[in-house]
Parts: sequence; C-alpha cells; structure tokens
Amino acid sequence: MTENKNNNISTPSPSERVGVRQLRFATKAIHAGQHPDPTTGAVMTPIYQTSTYWQKTPGDNKGYEYSRGTNPTRKALEDCMAALENCKYGLAFSSGMGATDAVMKTLKPGDEVITGNDLYGGSYRIFTKVFANYGIKFHFIDLTNPENISAFINENTKMVWLETPTNPMMQIVDIESVAAITKSNSLTLVVDNTFASPYLQNPVDLGADLVMHSVTKYIAGHSDVVMGALLTNNEALYKQLWFMYNACGATPGPQDSFLVLRGIKTLHLRMMAHCENGEKVAAFLRNHPKIEKIYWPGFIDHPNHEVAKKQMRGFGGMISIVLKDADLAETFRISGSFKVFTLAESLGGVESLINHPASMTHGSIPKEEREKVGVVDNLLRLSVGVEDIEDLIDDLRQALA
Ligand SMILES: *Cc1c(COP(=O)(O)O)cnc(C)c1O
Repeated sequence: MTENKNNNISTPSPSERVGVRQLRFATKAIHAGQHPDPTTGAVMTPIYQTSTYWQKTPGDNKGYEYSRGTNPTRKALEDCMAALENCKYGLAFSSGMGATDAVMKTLKPGDEVITGNDLYGGSYRIFTKVFANYGIKFHFIDLTNPENISAFINENTKMVWLETPTNPMMQIVDIESVAAITKSNSLTLVVDNTFASPYLQNPVDLGADLVMHSVTKYIAGHSDVVMGALLTNNEALYKQLWFMYNACGATPGPQDSFLVLRGIKTLHLRMMAHCENGEKVAAFLRNHPKIEKIYWPGFIDHPNHEVAKKQMRGFGGMISIVLKDADLAETFRISGSFKVFTLAESLGGVESLINHPASMTHGSIPKEEREKVGVVDNLLRLSVGVEDIEDLIDDLRQALA
C-alpha cells in the first residue's frame, strides 16, 4: 500500500493543529483532510491533474506513484469523508456502484449475504445479476425486524448489507440491533448510508464495520458528480478494499474529487435546510386529499419512528407518496406537471427532484418483487431541495390540483 510520506509539511490545517478527532461536524466538513498546499500556500486543495509522479530512484517518491491507486486531491477528499463518518480510513470510487462492487469482491463463491428487501434498484441488480453468477448467495429479508436475521445465518454467511432509510419506502433499520447480531456471529456489517448522509447518521458509531455512500447524492450535493465512497475503522478490511480499489480501478479523477471537496463544505448547512423543508412538505402532503399514503420517518405514526429518533439526528428530505385513485397514466400525468420540482432520477442535490421509482430508479426490480414491499405504480418519491419552501408547496399544490 502506498502511504503518504509527505505529511510532515509546514502548513497544517485546523484539523491537524487541533486533531481531527476533536473537531465537530461542520469544522470537519470544511477542514478535514485539507491543508494549504505546501508549494504555494493555496488554501484550497489543488486539482492534481496528473496520472503519475516523479521518483528520485525507483520507489523513492513522495508517497504517490500512479493515480489509479493514489492522488492528492482524492486523498484530501477521502480523509474528509472518513472524518465525517468518524472513521480512520476512506476510499473514493468512481460511483456508488463501483464502491459496492469492491465490497462484494472481498467475498468468495459459496459465501452468503443477508440484505434488505427494499434496496436501491442498482444494488439489487448487481447482487442478483452480477455476483449471484459468481456463486454468492443473497437473502432479501425484512430487516426492520432484526430478529428475522438469525434464521438465515449459516456457516457460509459472511456479510449483512443494509440500507437505512430504505429507498424508496423510507423504512428504518435499527443499526445497533443488527450490529449486535453481526458481532456475535463474526459477520461484516455494511451500511449504505446514502439517504441519511453522515450529517444525520454515523453507522460505525452504532456498530457497523463499513459505511458505503453514493457520494453522488447528499455528500456532493449539487447533482454534478457521480461518485461513491467506503469508510471504515477496520484496518484489515480497509487493506482488502484498497487492494480491490487499486486492482480493479474504479477510482475517481481529481476534477470530480475537487468538486466533491467543494460541495462537502456546505453539507451541514444543506442538510439542515433539507430537514426543515422536508418536514414542511411532509406536513403539507399528509392531509392532502390526493395522497393515499405518505412515508417519512419523522411522523410519530411511522412504524419505525422510534428507531429513527434513536439513531438519526434529523429525518431528512426524502419523502415517498402514494397517489389516491391514480393509475399509471394519471401518475405519469401528475409527475410531468411540476414546475419547480424536476422529474429526474437521483436525489440529495440542492434542487428538488421527483422520481417515479417503478419505471425509473427501481425499473430493474421485477414488478412482483417491488410490489411486495410497496413500490406500486402510483408511488412517487420526492427529494426535497433547499429552495424557498413557499415555492415548493405552491408547486405541489398546483401539480396535485
Ligand atoms: C444512488 C444510490 C446508489 C448508487 O450510487 P451511484 O453513485 O449512482 O452509483 C446506491 N445506494 C443508494 C441508496 C443510492 O441512492
């Protein structure tokens, strides 16, 4: 593994002067992993647009050899993201799926994984259409009741992969309870923390071994980059994952790393606004005559509200709704009639988005499978952005009229 030998520089950042572990969230979002550039004093981490690095004699270098494995702009971002998840080690990937791919490649044919029955469509696809072909067996179960897990554990079980809040049904899985089971059975617990963001939830603090993010969403926050990340405190796991990252090569370039470092500086401000707008939109929709069901973990009558309250610092801006008496045509008509919300896949950017999971993000899940968990044809998912709340409510009012 390549280590950065260049960290005794004379331009330390607040995170080095104070010690990154003592800093609080917003300070870490702005400073962790970053320091004025030692050659020029540039305060912002430069975009090190280089594939390779000078070596004085073979192997005598400044800690960087080739950018598939290490790049200074990417390293700054990885250290920043690791700090936000209270982790020592961070790896950035060229997409969330690239990160998931690296995790699965640590398994061997015959190994088994227990995972949720309400998953991001692309995770379901890579599990069933890619890794199942390599002899890895997946069990898709309801993880909102962690007691369901034990029945699926056998000597081949290696990992539990969970998502919370789930996409798009907004179920909450109790990370601490699942971690108690994975620990006592020596299984690796991976949490896809994309929907919560590190601002609202830190799975490693709750007992998870590894956190996965689609950085594309809240962390980058501006819908202009596709990226993934893995964060952990487990050195052995980190080394295994770094090997996959370097050997398989789904690593992002310096320009994208720079954009995410820039976006991350406002993560806390954006998340506060997403939570505030999310709550107001949820309250407006809850009593709307056109809404049959609404899924948002901030409601006291949400089935997992108590778990959400225990493990999250806010309820976020992701809301799913079922339209009353709407067939597919009517659902399509309504989803096309928004003026401020944009009909598009993805989530977590500053702008509000609306998505039709059955045909868009979850199109790769068979109809019977998705309907079993509630992803019906008249379900819409909202990613509430940080625009003026009055404009968002006006838009919802006119689109649902
Ligand atoms: C988007 C998403 C992914 C996949 O990430 P990409 O960056 O699109 O590859 C995985 N999990 C969840 C929950 C997502 O929303």
